[in-house]
Amino acid sequence: MQIMVCLASVYGVWTIRDRKWYFEVDKTRGGRMFYLQDDCKHEELVEMVVNDYMLQVNGELLELSYPLPAAMMEKLPTDSPPMYVTNDRQVGSLVELCKEHVVRLCVSTRVGMGRNYNEPIHECVQEEKSEEVDKEDVEEEFGDEGWDDNESDDVNWNDKAWDVNSEDESDDTHDNDSADDVDNPDDIDADYSKYGKVKDEEEGEESLSFRERLRRGVWNGGNGGFTGTWSDTILVNHSYASKEALLSELRLTAVMARFAFKVYKSTTDLFVAKCVVNGCAWKLRAAVKNEPDCFWVTKYVKGHTCSIMDRVAHRRRATPRYIGQLFVERTGLIDGIVPRQIADSMRIMFGLNLTYTTSYRALKFAQVFVRGTPEDGYANLPSYLRRLKQANPGTITHLLCDEEDRFKYCFVALAASTAGFQYLKRVIVVDGTHLTGKYGGTLLVACGQDANFQVFPLAYGVVDAETNESWGWFFDKLQTCFSPHPMVIVSDRALSIENACVNVLPWVTRGICYYHLQQNIIKTYGGKELMYLVKGAAYAHTLAEYNRCMDSLRAAHPDLAAYMELADPNDVLNIYII
Ligand SMILES: [Zn+2]
Repeated sequence: MQIMVCLASVYGVWTIRDRKWYFEVDKTRGGRMFYLQDDCKHEELVEMVVNDYMLQVNGELLELSYPLPAAMMEKLPTDSPPMYVTNDRQVGSLVELCKEHVVRLCVSTRVGMGRNYNEPIHECVQEEKSEEVDKEDVEEEFGDEGWDDNESDDVNWNDKAWDVNSEDESDDTHDNDSADDVDNPDDIDADYSKYGKVKDEEEGEESLSFRERLRRGVWNGGNGGFTGTWSDTILVNHSYASKEALLSELRLTAVMARFAFKVYKSTTDLFVAKCVVNGCAWKLRAAVKNEPDCFWVTKYVKGHTCSIMDRVAHRRRATPRYIGQLFVERTGLIDGIVPRQIADSMRIMFGLNLTYTTSYRALKFAQVFVRGTPEDGYANLPSYLRRLKQANPGTITHLLCDEEDRFKYCFVALAASTAGFQYLKRVIVVDGTHLTGKYGGTLLVACGQDANFQVFPLAYGVVDAETNESWGWFFDKLQTCFSPHPMVIVSDRALSIENACVNVLPWVTRGICYYHLQQNIIKTYGGKELMYLVKGAAYAHTLAEYNRCMDSLRAAHPDLAAYMELADPNDVLNIYII
């Protein structure tokens, strides 16, 4: 069990007056609170301070120090200087001291080295072009949008990933499983599909849960699974199928090992990257050998000679965009993926702890990598519909654009649906639901019920909102999917559906969805105890039975009975429908 100590910190500068040291606090910078573990490393503390004070350290020195507690100072000369925290051992001493005393960490940078608060933050954004390189030699490698470092502050590093002795990687997932299920504040991605799941679907490798697949390393695609804790896999004489593949590995290495690199040379047959800190020995050189585009690592100096301070200040971080790209590259999955799964996979594969927001944004980027942007989707819609019809002869599709040729409505009824529907009860249930994509809109659906009481999809459409016009257009297209007479359309009591029904399909019998009716009644009248009468009336198979239920309801709750009658018995009664 790790013990955490808390350490308040202030920013400022040490001065000595009358043989006594004072720390003059820069109040504009405010204080920060740090929680340190027993085995906290100097590098980690520096990183926390640099991040939390948003310091831009450009090769200068950050000083961490603390005054000794008063009880100790009493026994020492008054001019005893503050204690400087310069290495892991000193951090250990500080942590020990914090267990007994209240200690304040003093953060200073040498004159002019702190961030100017009047200027916007450009944390970790560097000029990629090194002065010592001819400009044409350097490609704009980081023009790649995977590296917009400004948006990346929400990735936490799981230090276990750095600990070679850590052995409990795989068990980890199980513990978290149960914890997640109980305490699930972000659970907006609840999987409702499980309610309709048939038992057989649970079996077989194909339908292993995401977590289980992650644990076993079973993927649909990608680079053949993962190895648990991340380690630097770049080796001399390794080859990469393309420069892009090498860069991808290099980026991951930089993120995981917390440094930044710059592309020193990049041509069609040579690639050289160096640590971003000038003078550091870290270097990678790769050249094309044997076949075109195949880059072989010819030299790789893994060790950094730059200072940790410089590295922390310059390091690259995992942005949501990068995480999204990494997830797709490594797993090859996107369909049905929810943010939590991205967070899980990053934790298990690389020891990265992502917040929900980062995972969500990463998922959005991942979706764009695989599927393109929403704009691309709309642009491709005409050809998609055409191909849908080619591949499924008999499919009915319609696309309506406005006068400026922008998307307005679309309608799709697959051939299999229209063919199958002729064997079903002649009842169609329609409803609309909001779409949550970039451009919003409403999805309209029309379903039947098969002999096994399962939902049978007939047609769907995308419109702007549930209006008279949109439902009218939808019904107009829907009626081409089935032969007329007789037909029942069941819906909620939305006026737009009723109007469209009356205008476009005046010959159909309308039914009100009992579920929606029940919701309305409970909301408006309360009276849950009377629902058995409402249900009795709604499900009555004879007029006598209906009247009996309604009489009882009238006696018990006249308002509710009146509401039921207002709903038009024709719409409610089974007897008229079947
Ligand atoms: Zn370096």
